[in-house]
Amino acid sequence: MVRTRTVKGLVAEVCANFSGPDRCLPADAPCRYFAPPEGRLPRCRWFEQAVLPLDPQLEKLYWAERKADAEGRQLSRREREAALAITVLRGQCERCGTAFDRRSNRQRYCPACMKAAAREAARQRKRRQREGAA
Ligand SMILES: [Zn+2]
Repeated sequence: MVRTRTVKGLVAEVCANFSGPDRCLPADAPCRYFAPPEGRLPRCRWFEQAVLPLDPQLEKLYWAERKADAEGRQLSRREREAALAITVLRGQCERCGTAFDRRSNRQRYCPACMKAAAREAARQRKRRQREGAA
């Protein structure tokens, strides 16, 4: 099961206009994602352009939901899973640059590099300890 950040979570964490759930600074009104318009999915141009792209997985889901909404239906569970799955698979190793299947958003290295990176980190830690003791 993949845990996704919610739109509200991303707004609260990242949006520069967000100053509490009931205050969007430029609009001088409650944030739309916290006080959605009646019967419709909330949309905010600033959020969609500047904030949402920071979380590609959530972005994918967001647009899938809005597309379904425009067609007058809800996103099915399968569509939801498909939207989430694609970005989970897209990862690039920070060490060797190889594309690999990510199991979590925090996973930074491909399986081949993971062990080596852990070894390097341990070695550096030991060296720092030694230098600190000398
Ligand atoms: Zn790698």
